[in-house]
Amino acid sequence: MSNFDRDKVVASVPQKGFFGHPKGLFTLFFTEFWERFSYYGMRAILVFYMYYEVTEGGLGIDKQTALAIMSIYGSLVYMSGIIGGWLADRMFGTSKAIFYGGILIMLGHIVLAIPGSVIMFFISMVLIVLGTGLLKPNVSSVVGEIYSEKDNRRDAGFSIFYMGINLGAFISPLIVGTVGLEIDFHLGFGIAAIGMFLGLVVFILTKKKNLGLAGTIVANPLSPAEKKKVFTGFGLGALIITIFLALTIPAGYFTFNTFIALVGILGFLIPTIYFIVMYRSPKTTAVERSRIIAYIPLFIASVMFWAIQEQGSTILANYADERTQLNFAGLSISPTWFQSLNPLFIILLAPVFAWLWVKLGDRQPSVPKKFSLGLLFAGLSFMVILLPAYLGGSDTLVNPLWLVLSYFIVVLGELCLSPVGLSATTKLAPAAFSAQTMSLWFLSNAAAQALNAQIVRFYRPETEMLYFGTIGGIAIGLSILLFVLSPKIQGFMKGVN
Ligand code: GLU
Ligand code: ASP
Repeated sequence: MSNFDRDKVVASVPQKGFFGHPKGLFTLFFTEFWERFSYYGMRAILVFYMYYEVTEGGLGIDKQTALAIMSIYGSLVYMSGIIGGWLADRMFGTSKAIFYGGILIMLGHIVLAIPGSVIMFFISMVLIVLGTGLLKPNVSSVVGEIYSEKDNRRDAGFSIFYMGINLGAFISPLIVGTVGLEIDFHLGFGIAAIGMFLGLVVFILTKKKNLGLAGTIVANPLSPAEKKKVFTGFGLGALIITIFLALTIPAGYFTFNTFIALVGILGFLIPTIYFIVMYRSPKTTAVERSRIIAYIPLFIASVMFWAIQEQGSTILANYADERTQLNFAGLSISPTWFQSLNPLFIILLAPVFAWLWVKLGDRQPSVPKKFSLGLLFAGLSFMVILLPAYLGGSDTLVNPLWLVLSYFIVVLGELCLSPVGLSATTKLAPAAFSAQTMSLWFLSNAAAQALNAQIVRFYRPETEMLYFGTIGGIAIGLSILLFVLSPKIQGFMKGVN
């Protein structure tokens, strides 16, 4: 989008009306609140739905496979953001992308709500992957659009938006998780579908009034010639993939393990191509190029961070289910409730961190240093969770407070890295790639979970100390390296902070 367009969009959004922020933030906040409610509610029960026996209402998939599917799923959900960002940037604008995405997500949860087979599960997965790809990066990038470039409410706007994400993520494991595990998995998925429906209602009813032109302008529209090329390319690609799968799956060449490996490769190949294309585009200026360079180490740190954070809903969910005392202090705890801890701590601590950064003013750590801190805490959260096995062995049930502590520590890191990363991304983005750069941020999470799909299969209670220790140790090592490099990286950011 040109500067002129940016100004026109900002002028069309009522600049007050939601806690001193543009009214559009209300619409984005609640749309994303409900979308995350449905996503995290579904994920809180999905892992158990997969590996619980058929007699317990589950699919009876083997546990290691179920954990790998959770990671593959998470990876694809964020990987598809590049398609969503691209479609918004080049074909129909962010607002329509959000709407279509919401519809697909809702349908995905409806499919899961109907008692069915593994096939139904995979159909819903495709719908939710594509839908989230359309919705998630685009709703975040509109947050960046409703403030002028110089508006100093922008960072606070992202923090409020981040609260919306986490409020949704906090409430849903308690509702969807409890209903799903105590009553029926499908009823739980049904509630997730209703959540997404409510998000769509908020979006449709309030977008015109609150968002003005935001999300309606196609930043870098395809020329008719390009359109033709793209459609032919898509068609051919789909045809080749279909033929390939039709030949290789029945012959036993394309197995689940091949698929995991493929996602692992794509998780790293796609961001690499992305960086190269953005860097070489004639639409990218010299200053923007330097900022892309600065973004690369931040991206790598982010991958390592999310690899640990996202294991909170796979490995640690399994840990909650099987390694933790669930009758504690007179309470009978549902293993799904642990999924509410991360977002709960985010909600409680985000204001503290916001206050801290303001208080520190110019003395606050630079963006790369904050990323380094994020990684440090992530590493420590895994070091903490190896302690119960060290102290008590891996065959006695563990006090749930250990898990609470681990979730708490990772959140200290998340607050140094995630809201900062989201906001820094919109500032480091080359203008021609604005919606797509948001997808790039999510690609760090996609790469992280692609990596997780390869490693979660090695998790066994008997070797958990080695597992947590190795991953935690690597994160701490990378954190130190990033800290040392941060002044250099800051230089490449050309004034962005
Ligand atoms: N917990 C974050 C969310 O759902 C993860 C996505 C990310 O920022 O990578 O928004
Ligand atoms: N903190 C995560 C995110 O920002 C939510 C979660 O992991 O539940 O959305």
